[in-house]
Amino acid sequence: MPRTKLVAGNWKMNTTLAEAKALAAAVVAGVESDDRIAVAVCPPFPWLLPVAEVLRGSPVALGAQDVYSEKKGAFTGEVSPGMLRECGCRYVIIGHSERRHILGESDAVVNHKVHAALDEGLHVILCIGETLAERERQLTERIVQRQVLAGCTGLKDDQLARLTIAYEPVWAIGTGQVATPEQAQEAHATIRATLRHVRGPAIAEALPILYGGSVTAENAAGLLHLPDVDGVLVGGASLKADSFLGIVRAAKK
Ligand code: PEP
Repeated sequence: MPRTKLVAGNWKMNTTLAEAKALAAAVVAGVESDDRIAVAVCPPFPWLLPVAEVLRGSPVALGAQDVYSEKKGAFTGEVSPGMLRECGCRYVIIGHSERRHILGESDAVVNHKVHAALDEGLHVILCIGETLAERERQLTERIVQRQVLAGCTGLKDDQLARLTIAYEPVWAIGTGQVATPEQAQEAHATIRATLRHVRGPAIAEALPILYGGSVTAENAAGLLHLPDVDGVLVGGASLKADSFLGIVRAAKK
């Protein structure tokens, strides 16, 4: 069965409330329901509820950019998976490179968050990817394998049905330096082979793998048609409705 493509926008710590609502409305206006492709936007936490209101009844899903691994309690500043569900989130991004490298999240922390989010019924977009220094030292395969295995540790088969992996080479994020189709396909094939090895062919074939890193409406088509690329996670280009919708159109072709 062909894997449904996902185009997800990560707005990061951007937009005022008015901008977030206007951007969501413009995305809604440009997206038609289509079984072959899913579209999601991931606004900052405080804009989840107002953006959910704008998305209501549309085919555009809501996602969050992070989550905490506990259900409730004395964790000042954190947000639980249940809270995200109540806000209307279907997706949550976990392990984004900015959280790993700026905020110091380890593979173990990422894995705990993945468990907590899946236990709550959320769909997880698990981000992995090597730094430039790691690529230059020819460590890409090893890093990607380690992050896949660590991120998926202890997950049951039925939970993996709600997991998407996003391969986001750190050197490509927000730099304008997109991976070549060859680099992307090679990394995605490594991820799928790793999954096949540890979880078997059925899970490996079904699990969607997104590419992320300087995706634009101009370069999206060249990535979205690679055999192991099942969609894209978009940062900068998701902040303008025109460019985000251009990427959605590229996924449909
Ligand atoms: C991201 O942060 O997930 C991302 C892919 O950013 P950008 O598209 O801006 O490189």
